[in-house]
Amino acid sequence: MSKIPGEKIPLRAEAEAKLAQARKPEIPGRTGQELLHELQVYQIELEMQNETLRQTQTALEESRDRFMNLYEFAPVGYLTLTEAGLIAEMNLTCAALLGRERRKLLNSSFARLVAPGDQERWNRLFSEVLRKGVQQHAELVLQRGDGSRFDAQLDYLRIEADNAFSVRITLTDITEQKRIEEDLRIAAIAFQSQEGIMVTDANSIILRVNEAFTRITGYSAEEAIGKTPALLHSGLQDKRFYELMRRDMNQQHYWQGEMWNKRKDGNIYPEWQTISAVLAPDGSVSHFISTFLDISERKIMEKEIMERREKMAELQILQIMTQTAAAIAHELNQPLMAITSYSNATRILLQSEKPDLDEVRKAIEASERQALRAGESIRNLLDFLSMKEFPSEAFDLNQEILGVLDTARSEHELNFHTILRLDEVLLLVRANRTHIQKVLLNLLHNGIEAMQEAGVPLPSITVVVSTKKDTGVAQVTIQDNGPGIKEHDLRRLFEPFFTTKPAGIGMGLSVSRSLIEANGGQLWIDPQERPGATFHFTLPLAT
Ligand code: ADP
Repeated sequence: MSKIPGEKIPLRAEAEAKLAQARKPEIPGRTGQELLHELQVYQIELEMQNETLRQTQTALEESRDRFMNLYEFAPVGYLTLTEAGLIAEMNLTCAALLGRERRKLLNSSFARLVAPGDQERWNRLFSEVLRKGVQQHAELVLQRGDGSRFDAQLDYLRIEADNAFSVRITLTDITEQKRIEEDLRIAAIAFQSQEGIMVTDANSIILRVNEAFTRITGYSAEEAIGKTPALLHSGLQDKRFYELMRRDMNQQHYWQGEMWNKRKDGNIYPEWQTISAVLAPDGSVSHFISTFLDISERKIMEKEIMERREKMAELQILQIMTQTAAAIAHELNQPLMAITSYSNATRILLQSEKPDLDEVRKAIEASERQALRAGESIRNLLDFLSMKEFPSEAFDLNQEILGVLDTARSEHELNFHTILRLDEVLLLVRANRTHIQKVLLNLLHNGIEAMQEAGVPLPSITVVVSTKKDTGVAQVTIQDNGPGIKEHDLRRLFEPFFTTKPAGIGMGLSVSRSLIEANGGQLWIDPQERPGATFHFTLPLAT
């Protein structure tokens, strides 16, 4: 047992004192006594030295444990690599960061823990630190035990001991730091956007503005910072506007809308603005972020579009007027032609020596009927074109079709065959009866004329009526066996003034479609259906 330097004198003094106390009453004689005294003092001294050593040992162990704890659980990872790049030692934090068991890592290559993309760089850095010896710093992507990766910062240094080099590394997980850096980078780029951006504190004092703000408002950052957005007020927004804005900000912490602001040069401009409140962790507002776009150009464009739209409307009115005139002509053409031929017939009858007055009367009556029909047609057409409310009623569609077929037959010389497939149940539809008669007559006329013109040997018209209960409509199909419609005419068929007939006006189908649509139905052609032309239209059922 070795002596503790510096402890001898006080310990000896203490031992002497203890012995003096212990022996006082019983020790007689001199030399023997003195020897004994020396021995006793020495014994006590040894015991005391022993005790002190034990205490020191305990203190050393405690401090070693404390140090171990500090090492093992430090907030950063520590590891030491051999010259060959093998892991000689590492603390628990390091093993935890790497998501692996420490004992499995010891004596294995550190490079194995570096993501493949960074391995070569690490090998270079490692030989460099062995060569140069100075402290170095690097960022590497490391791989955890489960294959996931993280960004690590390494601070490393060459150590020399027992004539060998080793490298001591401090390792920090900087994933979060990288994420924050990335966020900041994105935020910085976003801040340089084309939109004006203004950040204020909770009291609306401007803290930051971007370049677009200066470009739009004319105020530099120095001029704007420290002021409030009132700097930009144009005086054109009334009090209520700001009240509503404040209400939205209080309730939703968000406001978006158009407002008129004033630039530094006094010009007033419209902007589209979005204000969002930034909340502090306690829920109170810490900042406001306002982004805005100068929408002057958009406004100018909107105005132009409005003007163009007005011009278009004027043109449309002109077109409607032309169409109306054409429609009127169409309606008058047929009765006028009939009246002309009845008048001719009358004149010829009257020229004979003994005019057959009965025939004359019939011709004049027929003329009169045509004139009346023309009058009624015109009235109907004008009602329709002036979009007047027209009466609708529930009527039997089957019955109406039979009536119109009779009329059509009486107005044409062509003797055609009819095939009727009418719905068996009494079919009531709700529409304007005159409109539907007109449409039916128009479609029949077209079919008959087409068959006549083409000289079809066995002209026939098929009329099918079916009920579509699920959609609540009746569907009428009218098919002839004439030449049908040429592919390139199909597209323009329903356009006003489209006609292939020398005396045609081309309003029949466009007016028919308008009439059906005005009565809540649809009218279309079935280009696939052969022979001839096949038209369908629907009308709402009267239930
Ligand atoms: P219009 O009868 O005055 O020509 P429409 O609008 O009624 O005007 O018809 C436009 C054109 O559609 C007709 O000129 C004709 O070429 C074509 N068309 C209409 N119905 C038929 C049909 N059933 N068969 C063949 N062509 C037709």
